[in-house]
Amino acid sequence: MSTTHTTLAIIGSGPAGYTAAVYSARARLNPTLFAGFQSGGQLMWTSDIENFPGFPEGVAGPHLMQQMRQQAEKFGTTIKDEFVTAVDFSQKPFRLWTALPEGVLPADFDHKKPEELLAIRSKITALEPTMTADAVIVATGATAMMLGVPGEKEFLGKGVSTCAVCDAAFYRDKDTFVIGGGDSAMEDTMALAKFAKSVTIVHRRDTFKASKIMQERVLSHEKVKVLWNTTLDEIVGNGMVTEIKVTTEGTQKTLPAQGVFLAIGHRPTNRLFLDQLALDSHEYLVTRQSPSKLGVAAAQTALTTEGLVAFPTMTSVPGVFAAGDGVDLRYKQAVTAAGMGCSAALDAERWLEQR
Ligand code: NDP
Repeated sequence: MSTTHTTLAIIGSGPAGYTAAVYSARARLNPTLFAGFQSGGQLMWTSDIENFPGFPEGVAGPHLMQQMRQQAEKFGTTIKDEFVTAVDFSQKPFRLWTALPEGVLPADFDHKKPEELLAIRSKITALEPTMTADAVIVATGATAMMLGVPGEKEFLGKGVSTCAVCDAAFYRDKDTFVIGGGDSAMEDTMALAKFAKSVTIVHRRDTFKASKIMQERVLSHEKVKVLWNTTLDEIVGNGMVTEIKVTTEGTQKTLPAQGVFLAIGHRPTNRLFLDQLALDSHEYLVTRQSPSKLGVAAAQTALTTEGLVAFPTMTSVPGVFAAGDGVDLRYKQAVTAAGMGCSAALDAERWLEQR
């Protein structure tokens, strides 16, 4: 298989990737978008989305993503349903690999330690790349962490959710549970408390990890209870969730439940870029607009004489831009991801023009 070249490669097929594709295709950059094996990203796992502007009646997540894909294709994006397995941003043009010979990539690649990943990567970069690109937009998103308990996967979208901001309104007058003790769990609890009959936080320790102010809000809310030192063992149901099994200090009990919200953290899908791009301590990609010390430092190195940040979506490598949940440790919404995808495409277009 011979290497092909593209002006702009976009990695990822969530709202950020598709929006970047629509904008860059309309700018006549002829982008190539790598959609992965399951195109559409996290919204493929949601039911109705009621907070994406333009859909007053709500829109099904998979339908919205299909529409975005069509829109990207309509303006000339080449979409490849392939998974990018390795990149080399150390030289220009940038190099990307998809299919790799058997055995190069171990099955447990995602669980390898950084130093082991680097050894694997050096084997890959000795091979001929699938594609070269003048610029790249990384929009690989994030994945909600799962507990791995029985029933969790079976009832995802049927009473189990990883996004209370998206789904809370469907749990009006229901008994709901939030698993976790960080800021996400607190935020999910407050989102649910607006609608649900009850919200019970199930937390494995006797203190929360979340910021004090968020803890105070949650703990003073009349609808909220906490099961301390408690683990979730199983989610049970019949088409939809009906109950959960939990263990508190060695004693198991069954509780009626209609909603179970997993809030044990998100993991940005950025392992691919570990030795290539600057990442923060949670593995979020750092751009010149990241809301962190690293982002502020990056922005300061990129100030123009007018005091503006040049190419706010640019990563630590000039010509590589990033957008979406893999960058966004704060908002994590479809609409913010789409907005960032637009910004990344405009930045990439301007950067390519200047070269
Ligand atoms: P965190 O990693 O901060 O918290 C995860 C929570 O889930 C912890 O309480 C942890 O328990 C628990 N947990 C993890 N794994 C398991 C498991 N296997 N079983 C049971 N419980 C588990 O993730 P968040 O998503 O809450 O936050 C990530 C980052 O984003 C943080 O920096 C946070 O401050 C930030 N954030 C900021 C917000 C804001 O500013 N509005 C909103 C949301 C997040 P334990 O406590 O025992 O470790």
